[in-house]
Amino acid sequence: MAKDYTQMWSSIGLNLKGHDGLLTVLTEAYKGIYLSQKNRPKGMDYFDFVISEVHGLRIEEIFEAKKSGKKVIGTFCVYVPEELVLAVDGVCIGLCAGADVGSDEAEKYVPRNTCALIKAFLGFKLAGLCPYVELTDLIVGETTCDGKKKAYEIFDEITNKVYVMELPHKKGVDGRTMWRNEIKRFADKLEELTGNKITPEKLLESSRIVNAKRKALQRLSALRAADPSPISGLDALLINQVSFYDDPIRFTAKTNELCDELAERIKAGSSVAAKGSLRVLISGSPMAIPNWKLHAIVEGSGATVVGEESCVGERNFRTLLDENFSSVEQGIDKLSERSLTVDCACFTPNTERLDNIVEMTKRLKAQGVIHYALQFCTPYMMEAFKAKKTVDAIGVPFLRIETDYSMEDMGQLTTRVGAFLEMMQTRVNA
Ligand code: SF4
Ligand code: SF4
Repeated sequence: MAKDYTQMWSSIGLNLKGHDGLLTVLTEAYKGIYLSQKNRPKGMDYFDFVISEVHGLRIEEIFEAKKSGKKVIGTFCVYVPEELVLAVDGVCIGLCAGADVGSDEAEKYVPRNTCALIKAFLGFKLAGLCPYVELTDLIVGETTCDGKKKAYEIFDEITNKVYVMELPHKKGVDGRTMWRNEIKRFADKLEELTGNKITPEKLLESSRIVNAKRKALQRLSALRAADPSPISGLDALLINQVSFYDDPIRFTAKTNELCDELAERIKAGSSVAAKGSLRVLISGSPMAIPNWKLHAIVEGSGATVVGEESCVGERNFRTLLDENFSSVEQGIDKLSERSLTVDCACFTPNTERLDNIVEMTKRLKAQGVIHYALQFCTPYMMEAFKAKKTVDAIGVPFLRIETDYSMEDMGQLTTRVGAFLEMMQTRVNA
């Protein structure tokens, strides 16, 4: 029988009735979408366990960490360097939310036509449903898109613990200098918050931990190039989602174990999907947990998602940090250089992303690209135009989808994806 965490949830001020309802819905959705898949890798047992304990054991661990004096830092964006948080012995947790929860409450603060991701992180907090937010000592925002930038002002009024990093929108000399200074300012803030000094040794150690996590995710991505892919896109997406809040060392070990198993499955030709099933790359806005909607539709229609050109995916782990530094100042230079290789649509120009879409399409042998933008996510909705032109130029079918976290358009999306897969199949057969 599952452990009873009611007292813990109550002590951090969660809305117990609403929280019970949320867990029930999540458990049912997980059973229907994940546990119904056939022939999953054994290594997914760990990730199933993590999900079943997402508001239980992991929260208890973070509680313990706090008791031992550690600080918990919540983040929303892959530009915020996890290495610095670990270098001050902090716990780093991704706070993006992927479910349509608390929208009514959120809409008292932000316009209806705000992207679902922003409404969800506000909504989870306002509805008293997110234990992670409650346990944070500092919430780090960034000036990426306009929606987030303004939402953080509101979030600070509600939580009183938001710190904002100023991210430039161009990667020229001035932008790079500014971002480097912002990272230094963030390092100072973390030292002040925790009372721990960042030393070259600590920064190197934390860099190795985060790089090892990136390498494990790179390995997983590379294995998905096999036909058939040894793992479903749904499972790979889940692993990427879990990477934002699990303990990084344990996560890396479990992901590497799973990758060993996937290598064996490739040799044995074993997969969730049939050999020759259509291969789709998904590109665009991040899919925070538990946003499994598009993957469930694509894979429910018989195709396989072989990659995510997204922050919950390749954009998060594509580049490793150069560990060749001997002082904190040099380490900060490297952190700044690495994070500016991330190709978020909030930058202009952003041609690297177009190159990366082509690179992933080819490497993962995708036969079609679905561009996924959350409604009202202007940066990705606008960039879809160039993404289409780029993918058209390499002769690969392209579908543009704009949606949110609600289930209202499931029928319509299923029809559109089905028609797209038929068109892909016709091209493959030609
Ligand atoms: S899409 Fe852009 S703003 Fe969102 S997490 Fe990624 S880098 Fe950050
Ligand atoms: S999904 Fe788009 S609009 Fe929403 S927070 Fe991310 S970048 Fe901003």
